[in-house]
This record gives sequence, structure tokens and C-alpha cells, in this order.
Amino acid sequence: MLLVNLASLPMDGNQPIFPIGVRCVQDALDRAGHVTRLVDFVAEPTGLTDLDWLGHEWDVIGFTIRNIDPIDITCSTHVDEYVSFAKRVRDELDRRGLDPVLVGGGPGFSLFGDTLVAKLGLDVGVIGPGEQVMLDIATNPRSFKGRGAVLQGRRHCGFLTDTLHHPASLMAAYTNAHQAMIGVETRRKTCYQTCGYCPYAYIEGDNAGDHKPLDVLAEEIRGIHRAGFRRIFFTDGIFNSELRFAKEVVQLLKDLSLDGLTWSAYFTPKPFDDEFGEMLRDSGVEAVVVSPDSLDDTMMRNLGKSFSSRHVSRFLERSRKNDLPVKVNIVFGGPGENRETVRKSARFINENLRDDELVMHVGYRVLPETALARHLGADDDQLLYPVFYPFDIDVFNWIVQDLESRFITPQLMMNLMAGRAAARKMARTQEVPTIARPGTTYLSLAGVGGGGSGGCGK
Ligand code: SF4
Repeated sequence: MLLVNLASLPMDGNQPIFPIGVRCVQDALDRAGHVTRLVDFVAEPTGLTDLDWLGHEWDVIGFTIRNIDPIDITCSTHVDEYVSFAKRVRDELDRRGLDPVLVGGGPGFSLFGDTLVAKLGLDVGVIGPGEQVMLDIATNPRSFKGRGAVLQGRRHCGFLTDTLHHPASLMAAYTNAHQAMIGVETRRKTCYQTCGYCPYAYIEGDNAGDHKPLDVLAEEIRGIHRAGFRRIFFTDGIFNSELRFAKEVVQLLKDLSLDGLTWSAYFTPKPFDDEFGEMLRDSGVEAVVVSPDSLDDTMMRNLGKSFSSRHVSRFLERSRKNDLPVKVNIVFGGPGENRETVRKSARFINENLRDDELVMHVGYRVLPETALARHLGADDDQLLYPVFYPFDIDVFNWIVQDLESRFITPQLMMNLMAGRAAARKMARTQEVPTIARPGTTYLSLAGVGGGGSGGCGK
């Protein structure tokens, strides 16, 4: 079973991170006694040109796709890179007379499973957690040949018992290359909110909300620390969506007391109590990141947030009291954004945030299986290349007018100018959101990248 991490391809705007998801799949296959290899181009850059890793007669080749678009505003999509790379692989397999089963998976893949199976010329795709389906495929690969279908991933019980020990060479490649940050999963299906732009629940599938036992988690973190990593990001959708377990994990980190280890995660302002705030102090937390996306209560409701600006205020009070490093994600341009909602968000920011606490974007990338996609009535195929929720292009001006100058850094100004230039090139649409003010001009932001995926970066 060969696993190829397409998130490690060199692509404009791509920032490869340690491939935790595909490592979970490989670990499950290894434990079941299958012969596996993971190809990662950060660890093996030469593999990009020679494709020698195809030489072994693999039964199955799995491709994992983490993101469908880049984070960078200057480029539009990774899809074309994936299509062209898959074609190179298929041509090389033909040349060598090899015919393995080709499988697609990963979070980005899951959103466009049917479309990508066809576009990449795969035999089968997996939506959601991949371990169980890959074990099924490994048991009888030929029965999956030519199916042209996507299969739903299932709960994997090994998550509760198996400690992940990553290969030293892979750890070393990422320790050197990317500020030594690595993802760690404490739970599965860890967000129960319903943000209108977020397909997280769909991608996660049925994971039964499993918590990783603390002794297994401790062993994994110790191994990561031994390998030289000093920065952990907990990849849970929301770290403290279940406050009791979050407290246990923070206590574990304190008890482990690993030299120089810092960590960060996405948090929610609710639930977040005094005890939790106090526990976070001196826990090594590097950034307590929250994503209200707007600080206007009407907008927050439109976006499907389960908390209000009042909860953000309480969260900030607790953070100040305990001297916690805070980051607040705001994405302007959501459904119903107008002159007044921008003004209200900016007022909250000006009155409550310190200079380095604001993380700001403009524009919501519309993804399948979300309320925004349903609202626009867009088919999945129409969303494969970036489509942004329609918003008033004057948002860029309002932000600059309303935010205090201490937030308008040269970098932010450049991002805003690039965003506005990109938005001006986009196609106008007749589509007007029903919850928007009548008479407002909206744009269908299709055809360029950039902006925010919103929320927790899922
Ligand atoms: S954006 Fe974050 S909080 Fe909202 S549904 Fe997605 S994972 Fe949950």
C-alpha cells in the first residue's frame, strides 16, 4: 500500500505541514500487517522528478488531498496541480505496465469526492476518516478496481488504543523545514457548532466523539518532543468544546512538563470558565485562538455562531486576568455584511483588542455541504474552483475607515489592496442573498483565490 501526500507538492501558496492524517491511515495498515510506504515530497524532494517510488508492484496507491485551494491570495487553486500530477503517475504506471488500485482521500478530497475521482482518474475515493475503508481495500484490492465511486469513512477504534510513533526521517524533515510545529489529535468529531461556511461536520463523518486516552496521548507527545518538536497544534475542531476533557489535556501538559514545549489550538469563548482560564496560564499555550468571525451580533447569528460578542468580551476578560496570548479571527464580507455591521465590528476591535491580537480576512470561500452553498444554490462542481460569497466591494474601504490605524499594518494594507484588486476582476452575479439589504450591489467572487475560509481553518 503506497500512500502519497499530495499536500507536500510544491505549489504556489502551499505550506506543507506534518501529514498527521495520512500517518493515521498508514499506522492502521501497518498494525494490520500490510506493507506500506508513505511518499512525502518535503522528506523526499527527488521523488517528484524520478517517480522511482512507483517501481514496486503496489496493490494500492492512495493520494491524500488536504486543501483544495492555497491560503495565499495570489493564486487560485491547487486542483490543476493535482490533476497534472495524477496524470503523470498514471502515464508512468502505464509505461511500466502496472495497474494498482488508485484511491483518493483527505479533508480537501472529501469535499469534492465524486468530482475528483473522475478528474484524477481514480478507482475509488474515501470521504471522512480513511482508516477503516483503506483496511477494507487492502484486504481485497481488486474488488475496488474501476468502481468510480466514493465510500463513506467509518469510526476507527484504533484511535482509542494505538500510540502513533512517526518515522524519524519524516519527523526530521518537518522539524527542520517548518518551524517545528506538529499536529496532534486529542479527540475525533470535536466541534458541535454550525458555522454556515464550515464543512467540518461533513468531513469528520461518524467518529462517535472519541477521546484519546490520556496515557496514549502522553506517549505520543513525549515521542514528538524526543524527535525535536517544540510546538504542538491540537488539530481538534475546537479544543475546548468539551471543557472537562480540555482541562484534563491541559493538566496533562502541565504534568508532562516537557522542556520548551509550547502549544496552540482553536478555542471557543463558550464554554470557557474561570478555572479553565487559570489552568491555561503557565501551560505553555502559545496562542489561544478564537474565531467569532464578526463582532456584530447580527452577523454572528447570520454566520451560525453559537456565541455572541458578550461571550467574546467575557473570554477577553478571563484571558487578560491570566495573561494569556490571544488571537481573534475576523472575516469581513459574510452574509448580510453592510456599512453598519462593519462599523460595529470595528468598534469592538478598537475598544477591546491589542494591536497584535487581530487576524483579519475578507471574503468567505463557499464550500460544499455548507449553509452558504445551499443559500447560493450552488452545485459541488461549481465550487471546485474558488467561489466567494457575494459581498459589497466597499467593505475594503469601510475596514480602512473604521479600524484604528494601529491595526492597519503595511502587511494588512497590502492584503486588502490585493483582495480588492482581485475582487474587481471577478464576475458580477444576479445572485442576491435574501438576508442582505435590498439595493446593494454584490459580486460573485469566483475565479481567484484569497480571502478567508473563515473560522477554525478547517
Ligand atoms: S468553523 Fe470551527 S467552530 Fe465553526 S463549525 Fe467549523 S470547526 Fe466548528
